[in-house]
Amino acid sequence: MDKLDYRELGLKVGLEIHQQLNTKHKLFCGCPTKLASLETPHEEIVRYLKVSKSEIGDVDPAAAYEIQKGRKIIYVVPKGHACLVEMDEEPPHEVNREALAITIAIAKALNSNLIDEIQYMRKIVVDGSNTTGFQRTAIVAIGGHITIEGRRVGIQTIALEEDAARKLEEGPGYVKYNLDRLGIPLIEIATEPDIDDPELAMKVAASIGLLLRLTGRVKRGLGTIRQDLNVSIKGGVKTEIKGVSLLELIPKIVEYEAMRQLRLLKIRDELRARGVKESNVSDEIVNLTDLLKNSKSKLVRRVLKAGGGVYGILLKGFKGILGTEVQPGRRFGTELSDYAKAWGGVGGIIHSDELPKYGISEGEVAAIYETLGGDPSRDAFVLVLADEEKARRALGAVIERARHALIGIPKETRGANPDGTTRYLRPQPGAARMYPETDVPPVRVDEGLLREAERIKPPLPDEFLKTLESSHGLGKELAKQLIWSDDLHTYLDIVESMPGIDRKFVASLLVITLRGLRSEGIDVSKLSRDDIVKALRLYHEGKVPKDAVAEVLKEKAQHPEKDLDAIASKYLRLSEDEVRAVVERIVEERIDKVRDLCERSFGMIMGATMKELRGRVEGRLVAAIVKEIINRVCSGGLEG
Ligand SMILES: [Zn+2]
Repeated sequence: MDKLDYRELGLKVGLEIHQQLNTKHKLFCGCPTKLASLETPHEEIVRYLKVSKSEIGDVDPAAAYEIQKGRKIIYVVPKGHACLVEMDEEPPHEVNREALAITIAIAKALNSNLIDEIQYMRKIVVDGSNTTGFQRTAIVAIGGHITIEGRRVGIQTIALEEDAARKLEEGPGYVKYNLDRLGIPLIEIATEPDIDDPELAMKVAASIGLLLRLTGRVKRGLGTIRQDLNVSIKGGVKTEIKGVSLLELIPKIVEYEAMRQLRLLKIRDELRARGVKESNVSDEIVNLTDLLKNSKSKLVRRVLKAGGGVYGILLKGFKGILGTEVQPGRRFGTELSDYAKAWGGVGGIIHSDELPKYGISEGEVAAIYETLGGDPSRDAFVLVLADEEKARRALGAVIERARHALIGIPKETRGANPDGTTRYLRPQPGAARMYPETDVPPVRVDEGLLREAERIKPPLPDEFLKTLESSHGLGKELAKQLIWSDDLHTYLDIVESMPGIDRKFVASLLVITLRGLRSEGIDVSKLSRDDIVKALRLYHEGKVPKDAVAEVLKEKAQHPEKDLDAIASKYLRLSEDEVRAVVERIVEERIDKVRDLCERSFGMIMGATMKELRGRVEGRLVAAIVKEIINRVCSGGLEG
């Protein structure tokens, strides 16, 4: 597809970044901020959750259905990781001042205005991830900005809240959480929707992430930072995309969301041009089980055998619309299917734009059209194969979604797929239902907190970029690539733990060499951070030469089952004497030529030697030895 003109599209992106703080204890109690292991002794407590329909707007619809029925919630309480506060059997203690000081430091770095008196609020949460039924959150600062490559992006709010309990598993009628994560301090930074370019969205996320890391007081590793994106285009709606963990995926996600909104608007215009109205989308759900009871389709037969049925709806005037692509590999039919899955808990839908398929014949398609009273040249239909109750809930949601196609784009919370496309998760919640937390007294920002914050305040990303360029010696391009990459923290850890290591080499290994391997088709995602650290350590300790690091990692990526040390043993560095012996042998094998060509034989000898020793010795050393031996031969003879 052609590159979208984002300015013309009126693209607007805002970010919400959530980062766990690495404090000594939790936000409202003395428990540590470390997650429990599987071996940690624990007890379990059970609660039943029942909430009114008006409160479940922002819950996964499938879960909402369960919740209305009264869902069982099991809380794992690991010893030493959760206390009576997390269990909601004791009121919260005073706010953790260390967490506040870190938040204030970050607010100052972002030029945000501190609130004089911080007041905790209760935000209603109905999925059971908080034992209290609400999350405690407070705005610490308002406004501010961050400047990235000359672009100024506004900050809306900076809040300090408690993280939710960690979901362990979910099944019919129950959900199980671990309380170890509940109450870990979480900073939430929301930007203004000032971002008008997919690359800039990534850079803002990277910069804020970097700023957080540069305090040295935040958690690292999987799940400790979570990014949400709010994306809209002119004429579209603000869509929330939750839980983006890879920075590199952000530009794709933004691009695909802009594309989706654009195409949904085109679909709306096309339907309107055909004269289709919301009222043309009928509520009628038709039982087609009898019609298809002798179908040869394996899919149909399997469902019927299990006691399910085939149910269908007609979408008048929708011919061809369901097969229209809205994101790469996702059609309007996929959008409908998401609703059927979320609301009906079914596996998906079958629609007329993809038939005949799944063993459903052309004759059967014609019969379905006839039963539904549709015109095959103008109308579309949707089938759901499931038990009746689920099928009706699924198709009810599909009908609502199809009607919305005539209005435009529904307000949705979506989840990111690994390829950057997104899927429907749930409707967007209304304005957050909040009320003051009376158990936590308001906190005045005093001198002590400000002094503590001043000590933590991180350098700005632009300043840090200069540090990487100059004192780390990376040069502008490499420093830029590194600063925007997910590997920056790996880099910082390595150069800190291996003093004196060639920092430019480490940086280019991470952002250039390993990515180069990826473009050769080698799955470098198979490499763990530990693999990379280990390979570099072997080099740092002088056990393998520089060239070997990439070779070792390449082989490890191709054969993850192999031991890294075993792979590295092939590349153990040769001593100077060993190299000399190899060069002497190679020269001897070509002695006539060398005598003839003298220094002009350098390339030939060098090539033959490196072919044998690549990865086990530095090229520079080989070159020096080759030169020395050729000189010796030409000025008197090798044997002499
Ligand atoms: Zn506790």
